[in-house]
Amino acid sequence: DQFCHAMPKIELHAHLNTCFDSHTLKELVERKSQTNKDVSINWSMSISDCKEMDDSFNVFKLIHQVVDDEEAVYKLTVGVIRSFAADNVKYLELRSTPKEIPRTGMTRELYVRTMLRGVRDCQAENLDIEVYLLLSIDRRNSVEVAQLTVDLAEKFKEETDGLVVGIDFSGDPAVGNAADFIPVFLSAKQKGLKVASHLAELPKFEETLAVLRQAPPDRIGHGTFLHRYEPGQGHEEIEDIVLTKKIPIEACMTSNLKTKTVTVYMEHHFNFWFQKKHPVVICTDGTGVYQTTVSEEYAHAARTFNFSRKDLWHLSLASIDCIFAPESVKNKLREKWQAAFPHDP
Ligand code: 5GP
Repeated sequence: DQFCHAMPKIELHAHLNTCFDSHTLKELVERKSQTNKDVSINWSMSISDCKEMDDSFNVFKLIHQVVDDEEAVYKLTVGVIRSFAADNVKYLELRSTPKEIPRTGMTRELYVRTMLRGVRDCQAENLDIEVYLLLSIDRRNSVEVAQLTVDLAEKFKEETDGLVVGIDFSGDPAVGNAADFIPVFLSAKQKGLKVASHLAELPKFEETLAVLRQAPPDRIGHGTFLHRYEPGQGHEEIEDIVLTKKIPIEACMTSNLKTKTVTVYMEHHFNFWFQKKHPVVICTDGTGVYQTTVSEEYAHAARTFNFSRKDLWHLSLASIDCIFAPESVKNKLREKWQAAFPHDP
């Protein structure tokens, strides 16, 4: 565990609102409780009570109640970046859904600007971590809102010289059809944005196949059911596309266990893809909601799949290939990793 903590790491699948540290969360809840009595009542329910996918989406609602204005978004962003830096995460792609909240004067644009302010202030603190942003599309919202998010990502990509590097597609996978968003994914690609997409979190084979055929993402979030189908149904094509296009998979083991889409660590699809030498990146999904860290996720992988220190280091090094930042950033990170090579097994 100590080795996993000290080892340089990368986090590519982290939602801002699910990555709170307990100190920041407490502060944000107390702050909101002063003006909204419902907040304190709702928060008496323990957030670690999250047992299934439906529960986690209820928890997200509670968090959004306390992170609904500029100050909260700023505090959360800074708190999250500091926590990842303290876990020796050297490169972070942080994703969040820009929100329009008339009650507090929050606009989608202000939301992104506030996150960027948090990133810059952390840089000024000289934290040893590079941070890039992905703007999330919530599939519960309309295709029009999704397109607005892509347009916003393009604008900020230009304005920030690439700090906003792409988009994420997420939200309750039981709702709607991902295939409706294919034109939006294509538009993002055309604008030079990278696309990370939650796909096959549930066994929704038709939408998964449609997206993979028509607008394959640059990385897949979870991908829990990409390979879990009955043979002979024609879904083998899903696995084929992922393998031939070498689309990296963001594996969030504890999150999948806690939301019960995977039963035990040993059964996690990380191993399926890893055995095929396919790029898989160990991520947390949400350090707050799932009560984990990137180090702990590596430690789970080590215990479950019998990885040595060198195996872990190689796994962490290989994840650099999957980041969305340019080659120059990758090279800088690789140098950092070389300096931390474990000489004992
Ligand atoms: P936010 O975008 O507000 O910073 O982070 C919370 C949001 O991320 C949730 O409302 C949801 O849209 C998305 N999200 C967080 N975790 C998951 C997950 O495991 N699966 C999916 N599909 N979406 C998620």
